[in-house]
Amino acid sequence: MKPMNERYKILFESVEIGPKVAKNRFYQVPHAMGSGNDMPNTRAAQRGIKAEGGWGVVNTGYCSIHPSSDDRPLPFARLWSEKDIASHVPMVEAVHEHDALAGIEFFHGGAYTANRHTRMPPISPSGIQQKVSELMDMHLTAPKVMDKKDIKDLIQWHVIAAERAIQAGFDIIYCYAGMGFLPYHFLHPTFNNRNDEYGGSLENRSRLMRELISEMKEVAGDRAAIAVRMSTDELLTFKSESSESEAHEFFEINGEFPDLWDIKMSSWFKECPSGRFAESGHMEPYNSFVKKLTSKPVVGVGWFTSPDIMAKQINDGILDFVGAARASIADPFLPNKLKEGREDDIRECIGCNICASCYNQGIPVRCTQNPSMGEEWRRGWHPEKIKPKSSDNSVLVIGGGPAGLEATLSLARRGYSVAIADSNKELGGRINMESKLPGMTSYKRVVDYRVNQINQLSNVDVFLDNTLSPDDVLELGFDHVVTATGSAWQPSIMDEKSAPVLIDKTDTIFTPENVLNGCELKSPVIIFDFDYYYMGGLMAEYIKDLGHEVTIITPFDKVSPWSFNSNEIDEIQLRLQEKDIRVITQCRIKKVKDSSVKLIHKVSHEETDIDRGSLVLVGYRKQNDSLFSDLNSREEDLKTSGIKSLQNIGDSNAPGAVVHAVFAGHLYANTFDQEDNCSDDNFKLEYPVIQ
Ligand code: ADP
Ligand code: SF4
Repeated sequence: MKPMNERYKILFESVEIGPKVAKNRFYQVPHAMGSGNDMPNTRAAQRGIKAEGGWGVVNTGYCSIHPSSDDRPLPFARLWSEKDIASHVPMVEAVHEHDALAGIEFFHGGAYTANRHTRMPPISPSGIQQKVSELMDMHLTAPKVMDKKDIKDLIQWHVIAAERAIQAGFDIIYCYAGMGFLPYHFLHPTFNNRNDEYGGSLENRSRLMRELISEMKEVAGDRAAIAVRMSTDELLTFKSESSESEAHEFFEINGEFPDLWDIKMSSWFKECPSGRFAESGHMEPYNSFVKKLTSKPVVGVGWFTSPDIMAKQINDGILDFVGAARASIADPFLPNKLKEGREDDIRECIGCNICASCYNQGIPVRCTQNPSMGEEWRRGWHPEKIKPKSSDNSVLVIGGGPAGLEATLSLARRGYSVAIADSNKELGGRINMESKLPGMTSYKRVVDYRVNQINQLSNVDVFLDNTLSPDDVLELGFDHVVTATGSAWQPSIMDEKSAPVLIDKTDTIFTPENVLNGCELKSPVIIFDFDYYYMGGLMAEYIKDLGHEVTIITPFDKVSPWSFNSNEIDEIQLRLQEKDIRVITQCRIKKVKDSSVKLIHKVSHEETDIDRGSLVLVGYRKQNDSLFSDLNSREEDLKTSGIKSLQNIGDSNAPGAVVHAVFAGHLYANTFDQEDNCSDDNFKLEYPVIQ
């Protein structure tokens, strides 16, 4: 084992949090993982793996303390009754097993929660609903105005839940005064118009929080620390008569009350933007002032992916703990790797926000870089360990994109002798092209990590600039063959049933690959985008940056509509606007003419002609599966050449996002020569106890 690099030593100092001591400064802040109380084993394994990897503090996601804060259908955690305690115990035990502190984030959503299941009226300081623009968060009930008894009840619910959390074994208990949730709305002058002792001055608006902290501390004693999670960005913009801003005044009044401050933004989109739209450390303007106003430890996030940036946050006196969600998802073993002098082995987060998209869709977390994330319990996968080989079979992997690279790396880690071949001069597949697009450089980390790891292994042969034909494959004499030959965008428009229709390509009609390979474009460039994800908007930006006039047309209400899930949707629309790219929504192309396209509106069916130079079509990707299909049809030849199995994975099997390709590569390698304990026919689930 190599010694730890001196410059990271500061990250391994212990820090007191009230009556508890964190063994280091690596702090997995509360974040959703899509596993509420209904998936206690999944949750325990997801969080436990981070403790095993060295994170000093590991928190739950948001945990509702009372039925008046019911966030269904999203998979929030719960402590509504004594019966909910047991569900949390496996996670606490999994975290404690590795000497880390376990924290629980209490959540009362107030006006934000729809209470769709419990049917209780939402509650708020002044009955004001914070309007949202996304359907998923809209609800039809304005909140009830809380009276004094409601306030007393709210405090009591926190106290009762705190006792339950302590019984479950948690070391840190949060009061959550962030986003649009209830304690935050008390702080916020727009949502708190009360004229009693809980409204008016900041001293009064923060009274509820002080009472919550004080009562929770009373019940916790030295059994648990009490933390506050707090949004500062809006208070920083509010003027204060006695201080620099209301945020400053807030900490001057309340700075010493809890045992720890966890600083965040008032909107998740702002706090967790994708790497395409944010820099590491982007939260500094909102958290750097806090440490000057309190003696209590401060934790903050900000897409910290590199250990140098993490150490800088501590050295510069900005934070006491390096808060992370994504860095701990992409590499749960980041702290241990640093400790062992293995910083080059860190699987660095690419900022794609696929993990965030899982919360928005209510499913267990998935990660592009770390295919084992979310599969720890169900499939028994581990980010650093994999079963050793069970035979001396050799494997030929054809295609060096994310699927082929992950398959190669994981097979080689198991000890198999692997060869990987690719037509290109470089490994990386689609990523080599896509990472040239604006803001997409970090995607290259998917390739860099795997190539760097593969280069350290002696049982992998790499054949570049090698396009394999079916006969080549049959002659090569491998025991097993896997094709990961990718997919290609097709020149297609969309019919009235929203299905793709291929059209003849001319010298003015292009796909994204043509554009990235430098085809000659002519203004005005029209992009027709019926893909849900990032490619259409990126094409528009890229072509605009080349100096062309660009119009993007989409049949949807917004460009890249799926990107709501990855917290990117607003940024994408803003970027198009900033770059002066014309956007036409709710239309599809009915007819392509030589120098124009005929559009038809989805609702009105009105038809319009738009002039065009080049036309770029983004919407339909088709498998490059001819190699697989040909080989698969030659059963006898496969037998004669000694090939025992042939499989097709990744985009050449089912075109998807990079996360799907990496997962497919890992699934192939992990289950190669093995029984899958979570096969398609035997999908492992957690079952409720019938009472
Ligand atoms: P995925 O996302 O599924 O990994 P990619 O499109 O990123 O797919 O990568 C597929 C890779 O397969 C590309 O780099 C391409 O050059 C390579 N490839 C396709 N056909 C062949 C072939 N017949 N022989 C070798 N490499 C191939
Ligand atoms: Fe990072 Fe993407 Fe993994 Fe999330 S899914 S942790 S953003 S690499």
